[in-house]
Amino acid sequence: MKRLAILGSTGSVGEQTLSVVEAFPDRYRAVALAAGRNIDKLADQVRRFRPELVAVAEPAGAELLRRRLGDRALDVAIEVGETGLDAVAVHAADLVVSSLVGAVGLRPTLAAIRAGRDIALANKEVMVTAGALVLREVRAHRVALLPVDSEHSAIFQALQGQRHEDIAKIILTCSGGPFRTWTARATARASVEQALAHPNWDMGAKISIDSATLMNKALEIVEARWLFDVAPQQIEVVIHPQSIVHSLVEFVDRSVLAQLGLPDMRVPIAVALAHPERLPLDLPSLDLAAAGRLDFEPPDPLRFPALDLAFCALTAPGEGGSEEAPAVLNAANEVAVERFLAGEIALPRICEVNGLVLEEHLAERSGAIVEKLAHVEQADAWARDRARHHLEAERGAEGAGTGG
Ligand code: MG
Repeated sequence: MKRLAILGSTGSVGEQTLSVVEAFPDRYRAVALAAGRNIDKLADQVRRFRPELVAVAEPAGAELLRRRLGDRALDVAIEVGETGLDAVAVHAADLVVSSLVGAVGLRPTLAAIRAGRDIALANKEVMVTAGALVLREVRAHRVALLPVDSEHSAIFQALQGQRHEDIAKIILTCSGGPFRTWTARATARASVEQALAHPNWDMGAKISIDSATLMNKALEIVEARWLFDVAPQQIEVVIHPQSIVHSLVEFVDRSVLAQLGLPDMRVPIAVALAHPERLPLDLPSLDLAAAGRLDFEPPDPLRFPALDLAFCALTAPGEGGSEEAPAVLNAANEVAVERFLAGEIALPRICEVNGLVLEEHLAERSGAIVEKLAHVEQADAWARDRARHHLEAERGAEGAGTGG
């Protein structure tokens, strides 16, 4: 019986992890759940899975949860805020599923690694904001880091039994998002609803917007660089609208291994939960004859500048780059995406602001090294502040009637 702690149990990956747990009750038990503000969903999960510990974001949420659970609240410890996230992270478990969305997941994931827990990593911001630091901790504490992101799971699977020095390059596939075939002009007028309508994957709002701008792929480039410890020049992106080939690895003999499957997050989740075994999931088979064709095309850097931002953020400190730059890019993006979701800015403005903040950072902090979490937090806070500054300036201009 594998005991699981889930950071972010009411999110998309958290819920799908629990659906795998539910399908294999003899193999997995969800013993600790951390959620944010979705108390109704968490109350339902507590009733179904009977965890030992849950964490919520705020005291009011804990109170509401106690009321929702009635007598059953006595069976479960309820913790709040950062303390609660840390408690779930270090709770007695065999595997911690790190599936919070955004930079908030970094601290508890590091706490879990330092407590010796194996990690199933869905929260890409952990590797994006502090990849070098996380890798050092993973090695020091000899824990397994199992990617849940579908692309990285594909690469992880393709690399089984291979030697690291035999990797020539990693090829990340990218669906292209809902605006793959749109003109720049049309994309600039895209609504929030249109940006949320991802063609192949059912995901949370933040990740859907990141897929529309290709910032999701930008973050995945950074994630791959650290997860698989390859040079940025060894990473490529190819657009693959069908999302059947989840990513590929080319080896030094030019042989290429790919992992294929119908897009369903339960597959990479099951790979991470069961590694090195596999779970017999009750899912439809991939029918290649029915799929008919698999298309590939190069990404358009003019309409989608996000990918270049990632490579820029990965420039080595000795070459004018900064180890803080990916955290800066991520933080600026989180602020800009919130403004887009609130209907305040147009979609292309997200990457413009990300680029401005990244450029400012590199001008000021060239050569910076991330030695501890505080460095990441400072870079993150600085970037949020700068992103808000750029967005406020814009709002001010509109208020003055000069926004056109
Ligand atoms: Mg992905």
